[in-house]
Formats: sequence, structure tokens, C-alpha cells
Amino acid sequence: MFKLTVEEKFDAAHKLENYEGKCSNVHGHTWKVIVSIKVSIIESNSNHSDMILDFSEIKKVIRKFDHRLLLKNNKENNKWLPYVPGIKLLEYNPTAENISKDIALKIQYLLTSNILHKFRIKVIVLETEKNQVEYNIVGDENV
Ligand SMILES: [Zn+2]
Repeated sequence: MFKLTVEEKFDAAHKLENYEGKCSNVHGHTWKVIVSIKVSIIESNSNHSDMILDFSEIKKVIRKFDHRLLLKNNKENNKWLPYVPGIKLLEYNPTAENISKDIALKIQYLLTSNILHKFRIKVIVLETEKNQVEYNIVGDENV
């Protein structure tokens, strides 16, 4: 079995919807993301470099959040677009949970468009040093 792990950080602000508390205000974090992919088989062929995934492809997915203001795409937040540069509108409430799922699904897409079959993806998103969320995609129970 192979296991790939990539750690990357990004700085971003967010504002939570449907939430009562200080995180309903815009505030920022240095987020840390740990992606690991386990794969039982790497099939070699002439179109592939015998890698699970290029590390830089994973980092690219994470860096799309860097130096952005992460907001849910709704009418109220759309009003800010002309005034605030760097807004990234998301189809979900920008919680650590939803961000970890989004990153995992994007990585799954990169994997399955490749030649790999049996995999497990784990994405850990740390909003602070002590608070983290983990999202898993199990492509195969036996990996
Ligand atoms: Zn926060």
C-alpha cells in the first residue's frame, strides 16, 4: 500500500451563516490542511508517471482558498462583491467541515480522472491549532 501526505497552510477570512456567536462576524485564520491518500495499486502505463498524484496538484486545490474572504453565495453576501476584493463565494457555509469535504471531493476528482482505483482520502482541516475537522472518502473498504 502507498500513502501520500501533503500539508499546506492558507490564510483566509470567513463568516459563518445560521450561527449565533462571534464566528458570524468576518474573522480570519491561518488554516492548516493535511491531505493523505492511501492507494493499494498504482497501475503503470505510458500516460502516467507512477505517482498517486502530483504533490503540486494537491497544493493547487488548497491554495485556491489563500488570501480570500470565504463567503456563502447568497443574496446578502453578493452585495459585497463590488466593494471587497478577494471574495470567494462558495456554494456552502464556509465551516471547517464543509471546506474539508470540498477539498476531499476535488482531490477525489483528480484521482479518479487518473488511473487509480482503490483509494482512501483523508482531509484534516485545522481552523486553529486545537480545533480540527476530518473528512474521509473511502473508495475501497480494503485500503
Ligand atoms: Zn472561523
